[in-house]
Amino acid sequence: IQSKLPGVGTTIFSVMSKLATENNAINLSQGFPDYPCDPLLTDLVSKAMQDGYNQYAPMPGSMFLKETIAQKIENLYQVKYNADTEITVTAGGTQAIFTALTAIINHGDEVIIFEPAYDSYAPTIKLLGGLVKTYELAPPEYSIDWDMVKKLFSAQTRMIIINSPQNPTGSILKKSDLEELIKITEGTDILILSDEVYEHLIFDGQKHESVMRYPELKERSFVVASFGKLLHTTGWKLGYCLAPEKLTTEFRKVHQFNVFSVNSAMQQAIATYLSNPEHYLSLASFFQKKRDYFTSLLKDSRLNLLPCNGSYFQCASYQDISDESDKDFCIRLIKDFGVATIPVSSFYQKGTDYKIIRFCFAKKDETLLAAAQKINLV
Ligand code: PMP
Ligand code: GLN
Repeated sequence: IQSKLPGVGTTIFSVMSKLATENNAINLSQGFPDYPCDPLLTDLVSKAMQDGYNQYAPMPGSMFLKETIAQKIENLYQVKYNADTEITVTAGGTQAIFTALTAIINHGDEVIIFEPAYDSYAPTIKLLGGLVKTYELAPPEYSIDWDMVKKLFSAQTRMIIINSPQNPTGSILKKSDLEELIKITEGTDILILSDEVYEHLIFDGQKHESVMRYPELKERSFVVASFGKLLHTTGWKLGYCLAPEKLTTEFRKVHQFNVFSVNSAMQQAIATYLSNPEHYLSLASFFQKKRDYFTSLLKDSRLNLLPCNGSYFQCASYQDISDESDKDFCIRLIKDFGVATIPVSSFYQKGTDYKIIRFCFAKKDETLLAAAQKINLV
């Protein structure tokens, strides 16, 4: 069989979680909470099932949920999305990304991505016959020179994928970044896929600079969100995509044949739950406390911690400890010290290795403490 994705193996998240289990290591690799979600939320799911939400939801999502999302967006960003024509509920952020790219990218189209990048972007683009144009970001700041981004433009450039707060680096885009993005895309028909799954996980009083805040960007953007991050329910695989009607129409043409619709009872439960804004406004401080706790535990370790402005990932350089590759270092951390992490080179297609590893701190305090005690021995 001729592979459509030669050179692509199993995603690093599955690889590392499996290694963690096999070696009985504390799993700070794949990004998911190890504590339960709010019991109110699971009660609401049971109730929705008992109330009969057990058949197909409407193709674009439950109207109740879409209206709740529209309200939340208006509260947060003072912009309006039409629940009927501009919001689609998806099977997580991953499906939203896949569907948006599938709806837009033709053979030979170019898509600009910033690496290190979430690992689904490049393979999806390639699967569609698209070409990945990569802008490599460098530690510790992972900042973007937008004039250099513009140099990647060609007549085939169809889309730019941005991700703030960013996985894996925890860096965020600033107002000036979005202003530059407006400038370089002005007068072009380049679309934007803005992966904002960590929109609520932003620290130290900083503001999430969503593309939604900028009309020039909003009108050319698919915005991707994930209830997995918002509700500590990554296993539910629910999220949504916001886009102007013209883009949403194309998105739904694919969505209807990709999944048609997603979990009905959970949509109902989430809609009820999110009707109370406290359920999403407290997230930043919840995760900031986790970040601060975890970094305080590591203050005497030989790792050098990088800045973490958002997301639930903390990156660290082990340059002062070893010159082995980040993959080898991660495997040694699992086998000899009992802690699983992610080598950041996995987020670069070329495998660029800055000797940095990624920890997920969406974990119980006792998990973070136990992990830190082991890491401090390295
Ligand atoms: N984008 C980024 C940057 C992510 O880290 C993730 C992962 N969790 C996703 C998208 C996918 O989200 P979901 O789990 O909702 O599919
Ligand atoms: N987004 C999560 C992470 O970066 C995991 C996603 C996945 O397992 N596909 O760890």
